[in-house]
Amino acid sequence: MKLKITDVVVHRLSVPLPRPVRTARHDHARADTVAVEMRTDAGLVGAGYCFAFGARRARALAELVEDLAETYVGRAPAPQARHAEAWRALNFIGHAGPSLIALAALDTACWDLAARAANLPLFRLLGGDRTRVPTYASSGLWIDGSLDALLREAEDFRAAGHRAMKIRVGRADPEEDVERVRIVREALGGDAALLADVNQGWDEPTAIRVGRRLEEHDLYWLEEPLPYDDLAGCARVAAALDMRIATGETDYGSAGMKRHLEARAADVLMPDLQRMGGPTEFLRAAALCHAWQQPVSSHLFTETSAHLLAATPNALILEHMGWWEPLFTEPVAIEAGCVVLSEQPGLGCALSQAALKRYKV
Ligand SMILES: [Mg+2]
Repeated sequence: MKLKITDVVVHRLSVPLPRPVRTARHDHARADTVAVEMRTDAGLVGAGYCFAFGARRARALAELVEDLAETYVGRAPAPQARHAEAWRALNFIGHAGPSLIALAALDTACWDLAARAANLPLFRLLGGDRTRVPTYASSGLWIDGSLDALLREAEDFRAAGHRAMKIRVGRADPEEDVERVRIVREALGGDAALLADVNQGWDEPTAIRVGRRLEEHDLYWLEEPLPYDDLAGCARVAAALDMRIATGETDYGSAGMKRHLEARAADVLMPDLQRMGGPTEFLRAAALCHAWQQPVSSHLFTETSAHLLAATPNALILEHMGWWEPLFTEPVAIEAGCVVLSEQPGLGCALSQAALKRYKV
């Protein structure tokens, strides 16, 4: 069957977050989202999305998506080929920032379509056969939560099937970070993992000094201790501490991950699907990590990242962030600390028409 992409419909949405995201770096109540429906002459529809914090930024992304969509319309849903053309088209405005974020929505939709056309779930199209991917809960344990709220959220995560979760640190007084980690870690007991994310909130001496205190509390990893582009500094932090250091979510493309690997910046990289420019570059980043004998994780975009990690031999753990769940017809299934992949074709979920109306701007 020779499929052709006939149309790319771009939706500008404002998706309210269940609780405002507060970290050492963020304070936001909505995810300003650009969702894409990529349609074919055979009636199949592929879905993808990208987002920004800020409605005008999202509008700029939507313009870029519309522009790049011209590379896809009238062509076959062959994601590698279309991505290569879009990549060439982006040369002048650059292979980082909004260019790649916009490309990600289209590349995701194109992979979804390719898998639907093959009547396979995406992870199987990519050669994977793991149906469960270890995951951690990330939609909570924000930096501003009271201790009571943290403990309540931790309980809720466990009740939802999670066996790992991430707390945000980087408060004005690091002693409070250490204390909050200690209390949550103790409450979790022995059968659940706790990760901590600094969101780039520290300098190098603070990261090493506070990191040493935190590693007494058996953290699964410490994430983004320094500004994301201080690769040499992050490498020194990773060398000084015994616990895993994770970073990489804020850099762009597989070239960004290559820079991290060359600098030995961290123990685990966590490419962000939209900053990679979609699954095509995410998979290249994961393969680079494999070549460097490093595990790979993910950042946001749970619906798609689950498939990519399921097909990646060096996958470590998937970030579960529920922010966009209301956009889709099916929630991501969680069981005993794993995301359970659907055997439905493509991503296994589709954009909900009711949600596209509800969140439209
Ligand atoms: Mg992070």
